Amino acid sequence: MNSNVTIRSLRVRAVNVPLEYPVKTAVGIVATSPLILIDLETSANVTGRAYVFTYTPTALKATGQMVKDLEQILVGQPLAPYELDRLLCARFRLIGTTGLVRMAMAGIDMAAWDALAKLHEVPLVTLLGGTPKKIPAYDSHSMDGIEVGSKRAAEAAERGYQAIKTKIGYQTLDEDLKIVRTLRSIIGDEVQLMVDYNQGLTIPEAIRRGKALEQENIAWIEEPTLQQDYEGHAAIRQALNIPVQMGENWFGPDEMAKAINAGASDFAMPDLMKIGGVTGWLRAAALAEQKGIPLSSHIFQEFSAHLLAVSPTCHWIERMDLAGAITEPTLQFKDGQAIVPDMPGAGLSWRESEIAKYLV
Ligand SMILES: [Mg+2]
Repeated sequence: MNSNVTIRSLRVRAVNVPLEYPVKTAVGIVATSPLILIDLETSANVTGRAYVFTYTPTALKATGQMVKDLEQILVGQPLAPYELDRLLCARFRLIGTTGLVRMAMAGIDMAAWDALAKLHEVPLVTLLGGTPKKIPAYDSHSMDGIEVGSKRAAEAAERGYQAIKTKIGYQTLDEDLKIVRTLRSIIGDEVQLMVDYNQGLTIPEAIRRGKALEQENIAWIEEPTLQQDYEGHAAIRQALNIPVQMGENWFGPDEMAKAINAGASDFAMPDLMKIGGVTGWLRAAALAEQKGIPLSSHIFQEFSAHLLAVSPTCHWIERMDLAGAITEPTLQFKDGQAIVPDMPGAGLSWRESEIAKYLV
């Protein structure tokens, strides 16, 4: 293999693609999936691919431009993700590596790792020193209401999932309990049930609802209050007999360290993009190992499968397919497990004819 491979260009496209189900949360609805698609071309004619998720279509244009503007810094640089991270961190030290800057950097990092694995003609997991293996997956649902929630729970149980997650935070505690009990009656006692409040509660209300949920065999209670309030999460955690889960909003491993040091969470679920791509994830996984914290993923299921396979405290992969409308289904889910694809790279493959339909 030629070790002098450099970055030749970036192709950046914005799409807004349909979802199988809208992502309904206690604090708003994600009706479509706004994605920035990145093709990182190298001098070896190997293309690294990645996407970043902007949550709202309103942020598509700015995020896409931010990624595209990195091209002038990256062209001619060696295809070496660690060095690229150092370069971009130095370049953005004064503005700070959070928000859209972090999202753009993470997209570049993922695409660079993908290209490097393809260059070596191995799956990303193999490049990282692991082997393609099966990762326990939970099926991630929304604030779907009784009818849709019941349908999705039944389908997940039928497909062999050993865990599902539902988003709650309805008007009343009674409504939360009603959906949780309905889902439990459908999935049975053996399948785990997680709940996600998406930051929707005050601390006293989180403790009140959490206390009631203690009787319902809940595997974790996710982001019960504002994500940046680590002390608040710690107080909730102290008050409850249910493990607290958070992490999808940590911008970088340093935020994760602060949350852990504050005793905010029993578990950790970094978001591959916000934590800083593959490079950021590896640092987060080391931190989780050091502190003995079970590590799960947040969306970005294609890359996350490879990374959880080399994370010492691997817990659950979240099955939530945000790019399914425009990618080939290379990551398979069978009997409640994600099967890391045994193909070069992270396994992202664009369906160009579908992309053409959803270009923004
Ligand atoms: Mg969540």
